[in-house]
Amino acid sequence: MLVVGAGVSGLFAAYELRKRGVDVVVVDASYPGSGASMRNLGCFRSSFTSPEHVTLMKESIKEWLGLRDEMGIELEQCGYLWIARRDETLSTFRRLAEFYHQFSIPAEILDADEVKDVEPMVNTRLVAGAMRDPTAGMMPMLKNFVKIYLKVKGSGVRILPYTKVLKLLVSGGRVVAAETGRGVIEADVFLVAAGGDSREIVKTVGIDLPIVDVPRHPFVTEPYSRGVIRSGLLIDWDTPGSPHIRQTEDGNFILARDLEDVAGASIYSQRADAITHILKPLTELLPFLSKVNILRYWMGYYDMTPDHHPIYGPLHPYENLYVAAGFSGHGMMLGPVTGKLMSSWILDGRPYIDVANNLTLERFKLGKLVRELAVIG
Ligand SMILES: Cc1cc2nc3c(=O)[nH]c(=O)nc-3n(C[C@H](O)[C@H](O)[C@H](O)COP(=O)(O)OP(=O)(O)OC[C@H]3O[C@@H](n4cnc5c(N)ncnc54)[C@H](O)[C@@H]3O)c2cc1C
Repeated sequence: MLVVGAGVSGLFAAYELRKRGVDVVVVDASYPGSGASMRNLGCFRSSFTSPEHVTLMKESIKEWLGLRDEMGIELEQCGYLWIARRDETLSTFRRLAEFYHQFSIPAEILDADEVKDVEPMVNTRLVAGAMRDPTAGMMPMLKNFVKIYLKVKGSGVRILPYTKVLKLLVSGGRVVAAETGRGVIEADVFLVAAGGDSREIVKTVGIDLPIVDVPRHPFVTEPYSRGVIRSGLLIDWDTPGSPHIRQTEDGNFILARDLEDVAGASIYSQRADAITHILKPLTELLPFLSKVNILRYWMGYYDMTPDHHPIYGPLHPYENLYVAAGFSGHGMMLGPVTGKLMSSWILDGRPYIDVANNLTLERFKLGKLVRELAVIG
């Protein structure tokens, strides 16, 4: 079996397939993790707005917690704090919290005084209140990615870096091989998990994936004392682009927001104005930020689909071609569940969680989009 892409999606899928006895090769155009998997903020939550996202994320968080023993994964279930500057946003949060309670996610609504108790550094004169999801959290993603990579490799999966798939080759209604920069690789089953580049790969066999690479420009500060930001990811939901901040386990602040940019802009492109756009609203909320020193800045892509859910499952008419891509900014947290879904789809003929059936490519042809509204950035 050939998996294209050694990010979290490809590696977790390979791991689950290997556990069930499949001989798996993973190829990557560059080094493992070089896509979004080593460029993300390491945050996770199940507080989304679609039953599909909430169900899959809840399951994925359960898996991440189990991976602490299995892979030595490090994580903190310290919550998310969604700040509402406006009363009407707080009312929306109240309705959302009720929705989460149906899934046993104990989201709570805080008034401005309670926000001050949880986050003493917040300028609560600007704040109507907040929603807190205590089941969300964050992890040191670079460290964890290395642990995942080593565990998958140790399980017997062969991982070939710098092996770019140029096109897929078809015969008799099946994909039979992948032509790579280092020769042709034959396999029985193919899983494309190459982020936004999955689009170009499956285009070679006539399939159109509606995925757009949207640039993201986070930055990281010098380390400060821990505990300055206590509630995991803090999100300024009422400012366009939803600026957000978290403090890492080493004390650095990571800050980001959605900025208008050219889709597919070069991974080496720089946005000097990103810092002002991100810092200005967050400094209103957290005045101490005017004194922080920025250490470095990086760029990565959200591989966005029109409804902000991944595209999972078989790619018809080929009976042995599958995809897991288009995670729209949420693929790291979905990693473990993605692995299990893809292995069940490939080996059992159906995903082990039913709602994943709503996320196949067919939904775009049938007009059955599953819209997710709570995309940060
Ligand atoms: C700034 C930023 C912050 C984010 N924050 C979060 C977060 O807090 N939480 C969260 O859950 N998600 C977050 N994300 C999203 C998350 O990182 C991605 O959804 C996830 O990493 C996708 O993993 P993947 O394995 O599907 O794709 P990728 O990690 O992009 O891996 C795809 C791999 O495919 C390889 N590839 C591409 N083309 C080819 C080819 N032709 N042949 C062979 N290999 C190929 C690439 O080299 C790459 O290694 C963030 C993303 C960014 C950019």
